[in-house]
Amino acid sequence: MAILGEPIKEVLKLKNYINGEWVESKGELYDVMNPATGKVLAKAPLSTKEEVNAAVEAAKEAFPDWRRTTPLARSRCLFRLKELLEENFEELSRVQTVEHGKTIDESRGETRRGVEMCEVSSGIPSLMMGYNLEDIATGIDEYVIYQPLGVFCCIAPFNFPFMVPMWFWPFAVATGNTFVVKPSPRDPISQVKIAELCDEAGFPPGVINVVLGGAEAAITLVDHPDMKGVTFVGTTKIGKDIYTRAAAGGKRAIIQTSASNFLLVMPDCNVEATIPALMTSFFGNTGQRCLSGQQLVIVGGDKFYNEFVDAVVNTAANMKVGYGMDERTQMGPMQRADAKRKVLQVIENGIKEGAKLRLDGRKLNVMGDYPHACFLNPSIFEDVTPDMSLVTEEIFGPVMNIMRAKDLNEAIEVANGNRFGNANSIFTSNGKNAREFQYRIETGNVGINIGIAAPMAFFPFGGMKDSFFGVLHGQGRDAIRFFTESKVAIQRWP
Ligand code: NAD
Repeated sequence: MAILGEPIKEVLKLKNYINGEWVESKGELYDVMNPATGKVLAKAPLSTKEEVNAAVEAAKEAFPDWRRTTPLARSRCLFRLKELLEENFEELSRVQTVEHGKTIDESRGETRRGVEMCEVSSGIPSLMMGYNLEDIATGIDEYVIYQPLGVFCCIAPFNFPFMVPMWFWPFAVATGNTFVVKPSPRDPISQVKIAELCDEAGFPPGVINVVLGGAEAAITLVDHPDMKGVTFVGTTKIGKDIYTRAAAGGKRAIIQTSASNFLLVMPDCNVEATIPALMTSFFGNTGQRCLSGQQLVIVGGDKFYNEFVDAVVNTAANMKVGYGMDERTQMGPMQRADAKRKVLQVIENGIKEGAKLRLDGRKLNVMGDYPHACFLNPSIFEDVTPDMSLVTEEIFGPVMNIMRAKDLNEAIEVANGNRFGNANSIFTSNGKNAREFQYRIETGNVGINIGIAAPMAFFPFGGMKDSFFGVLHGQGRDAIRFFTESKVAIQRWP
């Protein structure tokens, strides 16, 4: 087990990718940091409105030719990109680790998911087919045709810098639309690397554009009169604002937002398989996943509860926290120092509200000699109640809140009482419990003996309640429908 080589040797100066060209921004530059080492990786711009508008205009100009490109030819570009992503798999994964902080294995998993989006969307010739019926009246046939709309964009969060925009744009361009990606300003390098490969894959200029920036760039994209639809992944408050703006402009929107997920443990679960799944769910990606567990709700008597919690606490206390490029590391740092400070505040509030801090992750135990600005160890609270801010707000850090319920019914009611509905799971070996949970739980992603209920590229991905705004979800058939409009043609044969 070794500490892997750094993928970025010199400080990069990031540019926008507009109309197939790398364009230097006139916007203010800021530092993109490695959260584990504190080193500067890149200087990135906060692009100006004019630059964002130029990206939308390039996408608009590219649209007429791209939509006339045959689906098979569009699919070949995606297929070539998939091959290039595979060829550069390790480097792309290491870039995610250095700019985000996640472990190298988590990054490799993220790269794999991005590749899968290309694989699935390259099947577009059959995915986009319409349907028809002969003789709706004598000698008259009727058809449904799916057509692209024009320019779409993605406003992305920091927690999956490589994968999240790929929930959308491969499906958008496969269906004949053109696209502008705005990565999170916190870790924009991965999307720049993907754009380099898009160029090599032979996408025509303007089909895919990347603009770097923050809130101003995002709002410019959403409000642009030529933007046909918006995909946004991020926090609920900002997502709701984007949804309102998109609706006001008559635009389509997929808005995937925050979470506070519940994982239910029944006394009949397979304990040996459940505990590792819980560790990945609560502490994987350092808790910075919209699918991360936040509440562990345990059903069962005192003996089961005590033994189970002891095992969870011991396993969490022994997790190896360190630099993601160290292959021994099981949990990397938080992505930014202010994200760590927010979690420290959450822990303080939890203590004040009366929860019992059973494992204190503020006491650092970090492998290697790194600055501690972003590191935390796993924390676990017991005696948590549904009204505490630990539960009502998204934490987005390595904190587990343990609650007890007298039976499955009470556990489901507690989970359904929460305003979010992104990803809830049950651990049980009883089929009746599993069916009841799946039937009643108010969440977009249901896990049964799975701690991270992440749908594959060919299934839709989105939440419910305050975790999602819109109708159709990202990925899968929903994405094909979102990025196309249907037209009905009726023909009388001469
Ligand atoms: P964020 O809301 O801070 O930022 C998301 C994007 O919005 C960024 O590109 C940012 O530059 C932009 N932005 C920031 N302020 C804005 C404003 N005022 N107006 C318009 N755009 C603005 O989110 P984040 O902290 O980067 O990401 C973490 C959040 O994303 C968490 O809440 C997490 O649950 C959520 N998330 C949800 C899903 C899902 O599928 N539901 C998936 C991943 C992450």
